[in-house]
Amino acid sequence: RTVYVNGEYLPEAAAKVSVFDRGFLFADAVYEVTAVVNSKLVDFAGHYARLVRSCGELGLALTMDENGLREIHQRLIVENALQEGGIYLQLTRGNAGDRDFHFPPASTPPTLVLFTQARAVVDHPAASKGIRVVTCPDIRWQRRDIKTVQLLAPCLAKAFAEAQGADDAFLVENGYITEGSSCNCYIVQDDNTVVTRPLSNSILHGITRKALVKLAEEHCVTIEERLFTPEEARNAREVFISSATTFVWPVVAVDGQTIGDGKPGPITQLLRRIYLQML
Ligand code: PMP
Repeated sequence: RTVYVNGEYLPEAAAKVSVFDRGFLFADAVYEVTAVVNSKLVDFAGHYARLVRSCGELGLALTMDENGLREIHQRLIVENALQEGGIYLQLTRGNAGDRDFHFPPASTPPTLVLFTQARAVVDHPAASKGIRVVTCPDIRWQRRDIKTVQLLAPCLAKAFAEAQGADDAFLVENGYITEGSSCNCYIVQDDNTVVTRPLSNSILHGITRKALVKLAEEHCVTIEERLFTPEEARNAREVFISSATTFVWPVVAVDGQTIGDGKPGPITQLLRRIYLQML
């Protein structure tokens, strides 16, 4: 792979970041993942807008504008002949030459890294088979609306899920599901209403979620934004997730309980279909 590091396009083995980089030492960094389908970026404007917001919340200087960043993404698509998959972008507060909790001087150059990941998105087997999830406590910090690289808690949640023979974990706080370890969560009730947690500092404001809420409205699918419990999820007619790497995936079991008849439900399939049509 050819990767991007601070203005250079390099073979991945030649790309280097300092051991004193604050992304490495303090997870003092933000990231984005933009999907690529047919060698085209999906909703790059949405990902850029969220990156700007994440940087603003952390006082991280974003020195490149939307077009500058889009060009890097597009060059990586070309250099790596990427047809389908995603592009990972990480911006850190840079390297101050030592380990020091205090922010470095504002003149410290940030570290910007991007790389491509080739994988099936449109025809991923999980989209037709569905995934099995288990619930576990949400032990993350209180600013989950900022997309930082502090991802140890979701790594632990995925390891917990794997140890239970499940594909992923739904995180639970104060008795309610916040989101998945790397996705937003939805349940479908008997009247076909889709329930999803309202936006707040407790969850990441998913770019795919935003698109789905709009598309659902246009297709007369009612979205109700409220908290829901693991029990409601286990008893729901359908359960599904969304993210830039999955778009929409059905969930066919929660905590070992089969959802509906164990097959992807009609509302889930409809939303995935209309999302794909929009690309
Ligand atoms: N929540 C979390 C915790 C995530 O990591 C992700 C994936 N980035 C999402 C939700 C979904 O967000 P998006 O649709 O922007 O990928």
